Amino acid sequence: MEKPFQNKFVLEVLERYKVIWSIEHAMALLSWDSETYMPEDGVEERSVAFSQLDLLKQKFLTEENFMKLVDRANEEGDLNEYEKGVLRVLNREIRVYRLLPPRLVEELAKITQEAKIVWRNARINNNFQVFQPFLEKIFSLSRECADYLGYKEHPYDALLDLYEEGLTSKDVSQIFDSIKNRLKIILDKIQSEKVFSGKHSLEELEYDKKVMEKVNFWVAEKLGYDKKRFRIDVSAHPFTIHMGIKDARITTRYEGKDFKASLFSTIHEYGHALYGLQHNEAFIFTPLANGPSLGLHESQSRFWENVIGRSRAFCAAIYPFLKENLNVLENYSIEDLYRYFNIVRPTLIRVDADEVTYNFHILVRYNLEKSLIKGEVKVNELPTLWNNMVEETLGIRPKTDSEGVLQDIHWSLGSIGYFPTYTIGTILSAQVRHNILQDIPDFYEKISRLEFGEVKEWLRHKIHYWGAMYPPKELIKRMLGEDINPEYFIKYLEEKYF
Ligand code: MG
Repeated sequence: MEKPFQNKFVLEVLERYKVIWSIEHAMALLSWDSETYMPEDGVEERSVAFSQLDLLKQKFLTEENFMKLVDRANEEGDLNEYEKGVLRVLNREIRVYRLLPPRLVEELAKITQEAKIVWRNARINNNFQVFQPFLEKIFSLSRECADYLGYKEHPYDALLDLYEEGLTSKDVSQIFDSIKNRLKIILDKIQSEKVFSGKHSLEELEYDKKVMEKVNFWVAEKLGYDKKRFRIDVSAHPFTIHMGIKDARITTRYEGKDFKASLFSTIHEYGHALYGLQHNEAFIFTPLANGPSLGLHESQSRFWENVIGRSRAFCAAIYPFLKENLNVLENYSIEDLYRYFNIVRPTLIRVDADEVTYNFHILVRYNLEKSLIKGEVKVNELPTLWNNMVEETLGIRPKTDSEGVLQDIHWSLGSIGYFPTYTIGTILSAQVRHNILQDIPDFYEKISRLEFGEVKEWLRHKIHYWGAMYPPKELIKRMLGEDINPEYFIKYLEEKYF
């Protein structure tokens, strides 16, 4: 194979980048440890260590000589696509640090560190008032960021671009406009037919955590996880951390009842992990060893979780092992299990939402954060607005702020513009499915035999291999033959539930 990086300036950039990569590597390990094994009181020292490393990274990235070198490489006329990809990613990172005054970066870092803890207690105690001043500050600083970063039409676009390069609120609104009513129709039909609606008795049954752990590892093994490059641990909120292209770590959760929450967390995070493990190995130590956007990353986790994990074929394939090990399944058939995996009903908590109602949760958050950034609504109006909008879209009303506006951690971290990437990912996962079915017509037969080799190869070749080389919109077009198209998602749901 041709060597991807040849230009001497790019090679020099990459050589110097290794220190930035190493800082990120260390930070990834610290984050992973904070959520898994660190004793509780370690948090104070850990957050100092973490923010100092972050500052160090910023220092290396914006160091005069390094930026000059990147600029010099930018001037080269005949760079190949790999080299252009490296520079695109670095230019984006440097641009943000250059445009935001250090005072602003520091203020935001400081307030979000405090806000995370205030938010946690506010949620436990159902007390929005204590969180409100922090949220006000976070939104006003984020608006400042948007103004420094610049935008054409809406300040929200500047923030959205940080997570989903090139995506604007116009795009997002268009996507929601095209799915909103049709999702409502699907939801109404499901509710009127009673097959997938209502509550499922398995949701209430308690499982043995040790046994569930065995099930999760068995499923991960069937999906083909490589023990030399992959770890599974436990955390309250499951996540994936990529230490590098040969070390991916996921976590899953064990609440003790409703075992599908644990199972689907494992499969979801497996999808994220696989993405990082299948990058072009030549991208090691480079800024390309990453997904191009959060939406694309989420497309992979959703693909494994929903398209594969919630399919009838998968359900039937894992049923014998599950039945043998999980006592709760004693009196349930394959069909019961399939219904349990795919129960649809309006609920208040986003992370537990089903495939059909999930995007309504995102729509509420998207509309609210967009209005807040623009200054059209005020933070103190949030709890009521939230409840009104949830009632409008889902027909149920939160009784407390803990199950309403306080449920997500994102805003406390300053992650504004993040939520739409979940919908982008969900839609793309169905688009990936459509494309896979063209190339692998016996896709579902393969799933029913728990054979994933060809599917993984397809994903590697089409998506994973390329890392962050192309902007997300370009990768989607190159690999899936068209722009993001919500049609496939709607069709997938109609096919499944009608
Ligand atoms: Mg995810």
